[in-house]
Amino acid sequence: MSKRSVYIAYTGGTIGMKPSQHGFVPEAGYLTEEVQQLAELKRDDMPEIEIHEYPQLIDSSNITPADWMDIAKDIESRYDDFDGFVILHGTDTMAYTTSALSFILENLQKPVIVTGSQIPFSELRSDGRDNLITSILLAANSDIPEVSLYFHDRLYRGNRVQKVDANDFHAFASPNLPPLAKLGTTIDINHSLVQQPNQKPLVVNSIAAAEIAVISIFPGMSAKMLDNLLLEPFQGLILQTFGMGNAPCNNQELLDVLKAATDRGVIIVNITQCYRGSVDMSGYETGNKLSQCGIISGYDMTTEAALTKLYYLLSLSLDKEEIKEKMQLSLRGELTR
Ligand code: ASP
Repeated sequence: MSKRSVYIAYTGGTIGMKPSQHGFVPEAGYLTEEVQQLAELKRDDMPEIEIHEYPQLIDSSNITPADWMDIAKDIESRYDDFDGFVILHGTDTMAYTTSALSFILENLQKPVIVTGSQIPFSELRSDGRDNLITSILLAANSDIPEVSLYFHDRLYRGNRVQKVDANDFHAFASPNLPPLAKLGTTIDINHSLVQQPNQKPLVVNSIAAAEIAVISIFPGMSAKMLDNLLLEPFQGLILQTFGMGNAPCNNQELLDVLKAATDRGVIIVNITQCYRGSVDMSGYETGNKLSQCGIISGYDMTTEAALTKLYYLLSLSLDKEEIKEKMQLSLRGELTR
């Protein structure tokens, strides 16, 4: 039987960075060389790998929707040649990329695992080695047909994760969905959570930048500020609200601004500021008033999933009602109703 094979794309991020006068920066060629020399990859029980380093390595804080498309097209061009894919990426915006890729890559039948590290490969205590080796193993053998994120002994659904710690090795969490796999002395895959592949061919959808924003409601928020933001050609807003989806209902000016915006066709999606839990606008008057303004529920979506999903739906040339309908449905396992 031929060995399984994994394609590794290195996009940038701490894992392949070196110190410079201005702090850590990605260094061309460095990580590829290190990975090719890894003794673990020469073992018989490891798959064949091919590593492709991007010509422009970036700190992931510089990522744009165009970069997500480049990653997706790269996977598409090698899709038939490999059993699984590992994307090496900076941690800062990794959850945005995993969410975006989950919408871009439709009918996925192979694992696409995004990982990176908090300490560069070049440093003694790097967490990059385990993150990389375990991601390669899971990409080769797990048959999890999803975009997922592996970090520090956990494999998470890509559109359910958030970066929750700037320093700890345990940098990611999936507040509203248990991990797809836990790795200790054994590898425990939670098969009941894993999406079932369909037999349709891979579709690479387009995502383009749009006039959208994420705003957190806060006490004393000015209606005028919001009004200015929502002016034409503004298309959509992810509104992070209190608790179960609440906002001040005693500020009529604020509610009028929101209602006028949805009447103009701006799509406003309500997600909670809380770390865990879901929006239910029927719970309190303060939430109910928002639904009367034409605001739709984002249920338990993360900010990253809601934002990238809105980019995705706006790129599909759907009418506004279809966008609102799809925004409230689970398309890739990103929300629970
Ligand atoms: N600033 C880095 C990045 O996101 C952080 C990291 O990779 O951990 O590219």
